[in-house]
Amino acid sequence: MDCIFCKIIAGEIPSLKIYEDEKVLSFLDIGPVADGHLLIVPKKHYERLDQMSSEDITAVAGVLPRLADALVRATGAEGYNLLQNTGSCAGQVVPHVHFHLIPRVSGDGLGYRWPAKKYPEGKDKEMQQKILSELK
Ligand code: 5GP
Ligand code: ZN
Repeated sequence: MDCIFCKIIAGEIPSLKIYEDEKVLSFLDIGPVADGHLLIVPKKHYERLDQMSSEDITAVAGVLPRLADALVRATGAEGYNLLQNTGSCAGQVVPHVHFHLIPRVSGDGLGYRWPAKKYPEGKDKEMQQKILSELK
């Protein structure tokens, strides 16, 4: 398969590894938005988060606290963003599901865009029903 992260997982392309187990690999992002910016990926190829098995997402989630703790202590970060982009509309470039762990400090200039709005009357309940009817 022509997937850059599968090639990294297979060792065909080098990466600066931080963590590895049977199901998960973490390595430094080659184009960091902050020093120490990590990627965490399932070893099994999935393009999208919604395709992942509960076992694989559990394995990824299980390692996040340790990685975040190491990242905070290594970089002196005050916090971090955990980011998962699914779909090109959401900024996904590499079609192998991955989580960004980005160390943050106040004033780092990375910003945080959160254009919150208010639901018009009734729209919130309509959305609740729509999502519930699709939840399997
Ligand atoms: P996306 O935009 O898909 O959420 O993020 C893809 C990320 O993968 C980018 O931040 C990019 O810098 C990183 N990336 C792309 N190719 C490589 C690579 O060959 N090695 C590493 N370590 N990171 C990569
Ligand atoms: Zn892949």
